[in-house]
Amino acid sequence: MKKQIEAWVIRDIGLTEFDNWDPVLRFATRLSVRISIIACLMVAGLLILLHGFGLLLNPLMRDIAIGCGITLIVSFSLTMLSSMYMGYAVIHLARTRLEFQQMSRTDMLSGLLNRRAFIEDLSQVERGHLLVIDIDRFKQINDRYGHLAGDDVIVSVATTLREVVGPPHLIARIGGEEFAILFRETEFAEVIALSERLRRTVANRLVDSVQQSIAVTVSGGLADITPIRDFSAVYAAADRALYVAKSSGRNRLVHERDLPRTAHVEPSIIDIPDAAISAA
Ligand code: GH3
Ligand code: MG
Ligand code: MG
Repeated sequence: MKKQIEAWVIRDIGLTEFDNWDPVLRFATRLSVRISIIACLMVAGLLILLHGFGLLLNPLMRDIAIGCGITLIVSFSLTMLSSMYMGYAVIHLARTRLEFQQMSRTDMLSGLLNRRAFIEDLSQVERGHLLVIDIDRFKQINDRYGHLAGDDVIVSVATTLREVVGPPHLIARIGGEEFAILFRETEFAEVIALSERLRRTVANRLVDSVQQSIAVTVSGGLADITPIRDFSAVYAAADRALYVAKSSGRNRLVHERDLPRTAHVEPSIIDIPDAAISAA
C-alpha cells in the first residue's frame, strides 16, 4: 500500500520528467487547480460556520462568492509561483546530473568516450567488431616534440577517427595512446574498408602542433564480438592481432581471423601469414 501510494505520488508529480519547462508547467497547473478547489471548499465551509454563529451580516451566498473568488485568485497564483520555483530547481538538478553523467563517460583530452563507458556500452552488444588502435612509436613523439605535442597528436587522431567513423559506431580512448572502435550493424567487408580508411587517413595527415608538423601512423587489431565473448575475451583477441600488426612493421591492421589457431601462445612466436597483414 505504502509503495503504491509512493509510486502514485511520484508518477503524479512526474519529477523524473522535469528536464524542461513543459512538464513543470503541466504539474504546476494541475497542482494549482487542485489546491484552489480545496482552498475554496475550506473558505466556503468556514463562512457557513461563521454565518451559523451569526458573526457575518452579509447574505451567505454573497460572502461565499467573494470569499471563494479571492481564494481562487490568491491560492492559484501562489501555488503556481511556488511550484514553478520548485520546478526550476528540479530542472537545474536534472541538467546538472546529466552533465555529470556525460562528464563521467567522456575522456577529457579527446572528447571521446572513456574506457569505462565504452566497456559498459560494448557489454550491451551481442554482435559486431572491435578495432583496437594504437599510435605507433608514440613515446618517440613525446621525447622528440614534447608531451604537449604528444597531446595534440592524440587529439588529432581522435578527430580523424570521429571524421571517418560516425554513428552507429562507438569510438573511445581506452588508454594513453590507445583507441577502440565498436563497429555495429556492419558487414565484415565494410568494417575492413572503414578500418583501412582510418589507418590511411591518419598516415596521410600531418598533425600541426606548436611550430611543427608531425607525421603519425597507427596500427590496429580487429576482433569479432559474439554472444559468448565478454569484453575481456574480445579485447584480448584484438590485442593479439594488434601485437602482430606492431611486430610486423606497424602502420597496418591485422584481423584475429588471420592469426594462426595457436594464437593463445605468446605472440612473439607467432608465424605471421602474409594474408594476415594488410600493409600500408
Ligand atoms: P608502439 O609503437 O609499440 O605502440 O610504441 P609506443 O612508443 O607508442 O608505445 P609505448 O607504450 O612504449 O609508449 C606509449 C607512451 O605514451 C608512453 C606514455 O608516456 C605516453 N602517454 C600515455 N598517455 C599519454 C598522454 O595522455 N599524453 C601524452 N603526451 N603521452 C602519453
Ligand atoms: Mg603506441
Ligand atoms: Mg600503447
